Amino acid sequence: MTIDLKSLNKTQRQFATAFGENFQVEVNMARFTSSRVGGPAEMMVTAYSATELQMAVELALATNTRYFILGGGSNILVSDKGVSGLIILNRAKEISFRSAGSSIICMAESGVNISTLARKCISKGLGGLEWATGVPGTVGGAVVGNSGAFGGDMSDNLLMATVLEPGKGVYSLSVDEMSYDYRTSVLKREQGKLAPRRVVLSAELLLKPESESALRARADAFNEKRKATQPAGATMGSMFKNPQNYYAGYLIEAAGLKGYRNGGASISELHSNFFVNDGTATAEDIRELMAEAFHVVKDKFHVDLDPEVELVGIWDF
Ligand SMILES: Cc1cc2nc3c(=O)[nH]c(=O)nc-3n(C[C@H](O)[C@H](O)[C@H](O)COP(=O)(O)OP(=O)(O)OC[C@H]3O[C@@H](n4cnc5c(N)ncnc54)[C@H](O)[C@@H]3O)c2cc1C
Repeated sequence: MTIDLKSLNKTQRQFATAFGENFQVEVNMARFTSSRVGGPAEMMVTAYSATELQMAVELALATNTRYFILGGGSNILVSDKGVSGLIILNRAKEISFRSAGSSIICMAESGVNISTLARKCISKGLGGLEWATGVPGTVGGAVVGNSGAFGGDMSDNLLMATVLEPGKGVYSLSVDEMSYDYRTSVLKREQGKLAPRRVVLSAELLLKPESESALRARADAFNEKRKATQPAGATMGSMFKNPQNYYAGYLIEAAGLKGYRNGGASISELHSNFFVNDGTATAEDIRELMAEAFHVVKDKFHVDLDPEVELVGIWDF
């Protein structure tokens, strides 16, 4: 849909001129989040390459516009009031492979869907990413959050990430420089800080040749387990990180909250660390449910649950 330039303010016109129909205003974020909630984004640019991603960030900086990089929207809770500033929707999807001795290095732009990439690697007989076949979201989201499952995670695969640092340019960060820990990295720890956050443009992943049937069997077993233990429907995956020596889901269930409902959101009967939108939930329903789980677990077990999901946008509290 073409935007009437006259209806836009000066900054919006600059984005519209640079990005044409890949620029939109007042975009409903519920369409772009796995929880299917979230109010309007003031502005959105869809970037179809690492170059466009970089251009969008640079224009945001030049126009003093606050930006947020959106991958699959599968690890965030966007407020009902929406998001001011610019959402940069990352759809940079180039993938290439090259040999490195007995291994293969895969270069993936950060908007590649991690599960699609994992399946592509399996079909080429390349092992390492089987854990990711059922993980929603993008390579960028996985690199930042050190996504993982079934004993594997991004820190096992990453060789280096190409990163754009606002005002400083593009450079590589090795896996050591990513300073990975459980579901976090040096880039994730920048969340909430005032300075514009660094952006992952692409990643190089180390893969090992293995028989396609063995890789497929491993991925299928992981996905069977996932289906048996996690609810289908609109969720954000694990709401809280597992505290040391515990499972967050176990604590929430033991606190008596399994199945607990708030408006259109409920704590899954199948896995208490998954909060499900029944199709009518608001972001506020989910946030209140998070707060309830946090407080009840703290009261009963004296454990502070640490959210894995990031709250994005305009919140009242
Ligand atoms: C059903 C379900 C199952 C899940 N299972 C798992 C699981 O098994 N293991 C697991 O680890 N997670 C799991 N998750 C959570 C989620 O899939 C991962 O955290 C995923 O890596 C998030 O990627 P994303 O692209 O959706 O990130 P988003 O939700 O879009 O963004 C998350 C954060 O990363 C930042 N970000 C995204 N891309 C970039 C980039 N290119 N550069 C800089 N910052 C960026 C965003 O700004 C934001 O701060 C699950 C989620 C769901 C809904």
